[in-house]
Amino acid sequence: MNDQAVATSDDVLATLPLAELHAHLGASINPAVLWQIAHDMGVKLPQTEYEDFRQAITLSVTRKMDLEEYFRQIYHPVLDRLSSGTHAVEQATYHTMCGAYRSGIRLIELRNNPMKHNQEAALDLDHIIMAMIHGMERALLEYRRLSAGLIFCLDRTFDFNRNAIIVDKAIKYHERGVVAIDVAGPASSEFHFKDYAKLFEIARRAGLHITVHSGEVAAATDMWEALEHVQPARIGHGIRAAYDKPLMKELARRRVVLEVCPLSNLATQAVENLDELRFILRTFVENKVPFCINTDWPEVIEGAHLREEYRLLFEQEILTEEELRACSRTAFGASFIPTGGGLEAYLRRRRPASAEDLLAQLERP
Ligand SMILES: [Zn+2]
Repeated sequence: MNDQAVATSDDVLATLPLAELHAHLGASINPAVLWQIAHDMGVKLPQTEYEDFRQAITLSVTRKMDLEEYFRQIYHPVLDRLSSGTHAVEQATYHTMCGAYRSGIRLIELRNNPMKHNQEAALDLDHIIMAMIHGMERALLEYRRLSAGLIFCLDRTFDFNRNAIIVDKAIKYHERGVVAIDVAGPASSEFHFKDYAKLFEIARRAGLHITVHSGEVAAATDMWEALEHVQPARIGHGIRAAYDKPLMKELARRRVVLEVCPLSNLATQAVENLDELRFILRTFVENKVPFCINTDWPEVIEGAHLREEYRLLFEQEILTEEELRACSRTAFGASFIPTGGGLEAYLRRRRPASAEDLLAQLERP
């Protein structure tokens, strides 16, 4: 990489407005905040030194872990546990959104499965959700130009009834900033999008948007089924589409945006190396598949903050400056947060009518 290119990279990265559309709450909490939450709640951790804790939960390009193994060893037992309960979930949402804004992110859609934060149903789900909303609203108040929304994730390993409760809660809190539903979690042979067609249609009619995790790993690559049965506006990851030409054609035709998360894919070995990443993204560019750049797990993968993801793609000459700008535009354009953004727009969303309208209603005979 020559000096000219590095200078251009710095220039691009200093000015590019960023939108984060794919980040999971549990893996978006700064380790120092997690450490603080653990001590707030008196949780006994295996590590007594902060740095040992940070290293134990963090992946990097040199410390990779298979996706299933990471779910089993770290994600569920540590990250989900430390972001469970009303105090933890509120602190986690608040600090994550504030931290995102301070790092240059102007719009953030944060996703999670509320049922993984209620201590195995020991806690009331509505309390968990309200705590999350409270954390988000406090962040919006402190950083008034931030746009923020929540996405609730259904889980491939949950049965239909449990997933239906999550959709019900998403509809219930839609007016309070829950903008969409998603399907996440490890692959399961029991899960089929066709079983969810009706439920997703109900969600859509209630005003929720739809994204689904698919095509990250071979075991959970069911993008054709997702398109047919639940018609998502976006797909989380979707990188396996690069190996299916008719699918790319269909994604481009429908303008379905892929939420690509480069460093997460490298750290969990969903993508083998930078060469495969280059192949995938260049194939999407050539086939006009819309995609944007996201983090997935920005705080548990070293060097995986959103700006650093853009920097990596530029410095490795995977995407050009103009293509990265296009990714940023695509992300803002594909956001599920109503246009306008910021605190005032968020409050307007919740205001059913102006004061004049309400007075006129009162005066009506
Ligand atoms: Zn994800």
